[in-house]
Amino acid sequence: MFFGKAAVIGVGLIGGSFGLALKAAGLCGRVVGAGRSTANLDLAVARGAIDAYETGEGGAAAAVRGADLVLVASPVAQFERIFLEIGPALRSDALVMDAGSTKRDVVAAARKGLGARIARFVPAHPIAGAENSGAGAASAQLFRDRRLVLTPLNENSREDVETVSALWSALGARVSRMTPEEHDGVFAAVSHLPHLLAYALVSDIAGRPDAAQLFGYAAGGFRDFTRIASSHPEMWRDICMANSDQLLREVVRFSRELEKVKNLLETKNAPDLEKLFADARAARQKWLDGGWQNGEAR
Ligand code: NAD
Repeated sequence: MFFGKAAVIGVGLIGGSFGLALKAAGLCGRVVGAGRSTANLDLAVARGAIDAYETGEGGAAAAVRGADLVLVASPVAQFERIFLEIGPALRSDALVMDAGSTKRDVVAAARKGLGARIARFVPAHPIAGAENSGAGAASAQLFRDRRLVLTPLNENSREDVETVSALWSALGARVSRMTPEEHDGVFAAVSHLPHLLAYALVSDIAGRPDAAQLFGYAAGGFRDFTRIASSHPEMWRDICMANSDQLLREVVRFSRELEKVKNLLETKNAPDLEKLFADARAARQKWLDGGWQNGEAR
């Protein structure tokens, strides 16, 4: 497996890390990036994540010209425009992947933008995030021992799915597969809802008249709970909008759980509150110990 020219559209944390990891693994000749900010692209070149870049109008199309591997790693609301732009410029044998955090919208955007070339688009989501963004935060090790979910399409050949799977495995990821629907449901619960809650909590505290005092006394628990509220707002806006139906289901469900806890407080039900905490702690410990092993590579 070797790619002569790889193109990365959106050279931030994920795209930059992909370039670094691909090069570190010796899997490509040249990496060409495309993006919006020349300062970020210059940094990506300086850090060795890409060798060159294209920017401005037509930049993405120019970057993919002649590439045998393409990764789209911009915020997901940009995907449709990017697929429409790169579709006509793609080499007929180019393999296209993405790194988007949502999948139903990405697949729909790819169908619209790539037309008949959809067969060579294998959707992927590396579960390898961080609250940092931009090429400055990229790392060749980002995908190591992290999961990566493929949501292959009916149009994909077995060979292409195997190649993409082998590629991400070579970068250190543990690859599994889901349908786009299953993917968006799972990540609404364990990723999108927690981000929404973290942002909402910080927003609520910051909006109070005594915010300075509250932040002044906030400590480790607050820091841990709200770490992900330092994530990129545009990226999370796009994710929440793209997966709003599944996320709303989770918000309603969580509201019911909050009502339950509220009721335990109102009725001073200490035993049940302690049981809820103990069960939650045990479930989290089991997760930390790798005890919830459902969904390994299929
Ligand atoms: P990032 O903000 O670090 O990087 C995104 C880059 O895309 C930026 O450099 C931005 O300038 C560029 N960009 C924006 N619009 C563009 C366009 N129209 N054309 C070309 N470039 C454009 O974000 P990231 O964390 O690297 O996330 C990138 C993608 O990966 C997103 O789709 C996100 O959902 C997904 N993802 C993120 C994480 C995470 O936790 N950070 C994890 C897994 C997947």
